[in-house]
Formats: sequence, C-alpha cells, structure tokens
Amino acid sequence: MSSPDATRVRELMVVGGDVVVVWADGHESYYPGAALRRACTCAECKGEGHLFGRATLPTLRPLAPAAFVPVAAGLVGNYGLQVTWGDGHDYGIYTLAELRAACPCDSCRAAAAPAR
Ligand SMILES: [Zn+2]
Ligand SMILES: [Zn+2]
Repeated sequence: MSSPDATRVRELMVVGGDVVVVWADGHESYYPGAALRRACTCAECKGEGHLFGRATLPTLRPLAPAAFVPVAAGLVGNYGLQVTWGDGHDYGIYTLAELRAACPCDSCRAAAAPAR
C-alpha cells in the first residue's frame, strides 16, 4: 500500500453520480458524489474535514440536489483532485493520498477496518 503508484492517478472519470479514479497501480475507486461534496473542506463549505467520517455537524446551509452531482473532475498538480459540482462549486481540493486511504471499495474497507 505504500507504493507511490497507489497515489498516482492513471485515469479520472465522472460516471453517473460517482467520481471514479483509476490509480497507477491498477486499483479503481468509486467515490459517491454526495460523500465527496459533504467532505469539501473549502472555506465556503467548511466541510467535515475528513472523507466519509462520522462527523455529525449539520451543513451550514442547505445545498441543492445538484450540489451533490459531480460534473467534472481534474488533477491539481500531482497531489490533488478538484471536482466541479452541478451547482458550479469547484473550490474544494481533495488530496490523492486522502482519497486513496478513503477508498470505499470492499477490499480497501476490509483492509482498513479494525478486526472484529
Ligand atoms: Zn466547498
Ligand atoms: Zn479500494
């Protein structure tokens, strides 16, 4: 998991309501738009600060359904991913290391979860 390829992006797509990242090591991650938008840490959103966290703070202001629909995604330098949302918002940058660590797929969650 510490290979540099694990946090390098080979391909970036928006598929339906998901942002899809294909990593250089071949792994594919599907991030639901709603979870990503709620984690937006930009000054305007003041998001939860961590992806898929358990924070219970209410959002500061109600967002239109379009706000949770990714319309485009791009790389910022070689460390970040920027998403443009259906409401035109595009300030938030997600670091690739954080995204990879938060991959919601079954095998990554199983690897990250504490033993029960
Ligand atoms: Zn934001
Ligand atoms: Zn995964």
